[in-house]
Amino acid sequence: MIFDYPERQEQRRHGPAGYAEYESYRPWLRDEFDFRCAYCLKRETWGQVTSEFELDHFEPQSLNPQLKLDYLNLVYACRRCNSVKRDQTVADPFRFLRATLATTLPDGSLWPHDRETQRLIRQLDLNSPRLRSWRVMWMRIVALAKDRDTALYFQLVGFPEDLPNLSKLRPPQNARKESLEDCWFARRQRGFLPGAY
Ligand SMILES: [Zn+2]
Repeated sequence: MIFDYPERQEQRRHGPAGYAEYESYRPWLRDEFDFRCAYCLKRETWGQVTSEFELDHFEPQSLNPQLKLDYLNLVYACRRCNSVKRDQTVADPFRFLRATLATTLPDGSLWPHDRETQRLIRQLDLNSPRLRSWRVMWMRIVALAKDRDTALYFQLVGFPEDLPNLSKLRPPQNARKESLEDCWFARRQRGFLPGAY
């Protein structure tokens, strides 16, 4: 379950725009990508978070500087994936790394259902032996915690504590204001935050 790519709608939930610095999109991207790397699904709750997650331009800034501040060109990515990707142009992981297009097998490998997804997996080296064994290791850790230590299990598969309250933010523009009620912070307030995802 932890390496199942998300079921997704065609479009992003959030639509902030107009920030002068791309770093300002961070809370929106954390929420949009469920607090994990868009490429490898590494979670914030598995590490120290500080400096481990970056805001990646999937169309590189060097090739497409006009997209530098475009929310739709930004994804939440771990440092490993962002550095493997470097200046490669890749397909939008929001569209091509989702449940219907990629499956994680019990041996830790990724099985793409689509040519574009296959290319993306190759570009990010997501099927390397190291990543496959990393997935198997986490699947075992989570299975053991589920069996032996319920509190640890929910810590590993639940949401982080510090969910951003997006309705408090004031981006210069927001094309999807209705999504504010849909952010994970608002869901927790309504008592609808899943314990595991
Ligand atoms: Zn990653």
